[in-house]
Amino acid sequence: MKVDIVFHGFPGRMTRGYMSWSSVVYLEVNDCKIVFDTGGMVERSEVPKRFKDRGISLNEIDIVVLSHFHYDHAMNFDFFPNARILLHEAEINWVLSDPDDWPIPKYLFPALEKTGRLEAVSKDIEIAPGVKTLHSPGHTPGCMSLVLSSNTMPTTVLAGDAVKNLNELATGEVAMSWDNEASAETIRRIREIAKVVIPGHDRVLEVAEDKIVAATSVRETIIVPAGVADLDKPRLIELVVEPTCQLIKK
Ligand SMILES: [Zn+2]
Repeated sequence: MKVDIVFHGFPGRMTRGYMSWSSVVYLEVNDCKIVFDTGGMVERSEVPKRFKDRGISLNEIDIVVLSHFHYDHAMNFDFFPNARILLHEAEINWVLSDPDDWPIPKYLFPALEKTGRLEAVSKDIEIAPGVKTLHSPGHTPGCMSLVLSSNTMPTTVLAGDAVKNLNELATGEVAMSWDNEASAETIRRIREIAKVVIPGHDRVLEVAEDKIVAATSVRETIIVPAGVADLDKPRLIELVVEPTCQLIKK
């Protein structure tokens, strides 16, 4: 199984709103090509480019899994013209109930239905060898994670916003949840299953006996064009979150 993080999630907010920089993960199992979440508007120009750089045609993607229907995870499904698009049934029903939830643009679901390729997932299923869906409610009613099992890697959960960051995985306490108790229960379950968690908005996390470890850093760069701040060259503003860990709160 090949697991390739196309975009690393980044934890953070800005004074002008949520950064909403979420994880996008590419999976390849045998001949099956899967994309887990499609990013938001900020990533729009980079999505086709990053797949092209990897030598992967967007036409070849077989399955797009949307962890939930917030704009920063589900915006770019239209780049994958041949993919089945999986969304949990509970999320579909919730979106159709017209919830008062600002991260869901009202025009987005009709566009998804119009593709004719939306498939509701009603129970946990294996979508490819070693790739199972996991209903992970809390953040939204129909959050769906993926559990990856293979003898060449530790059990890995692609969590989406069921786990947004290190703090949420360690404490079970979450921000922006439709149901805090459901979120806490989902997080307990993910900690039991996973050795590695790729969260919605943070570094790759490792689950140890008593702590969660973020062993890598995550960095992004804001580029101010040449001639604006510095005369001859772009000014680069580096955003870095260093490796760290946190004890699990039982
Ligand atoms: Zn979300």
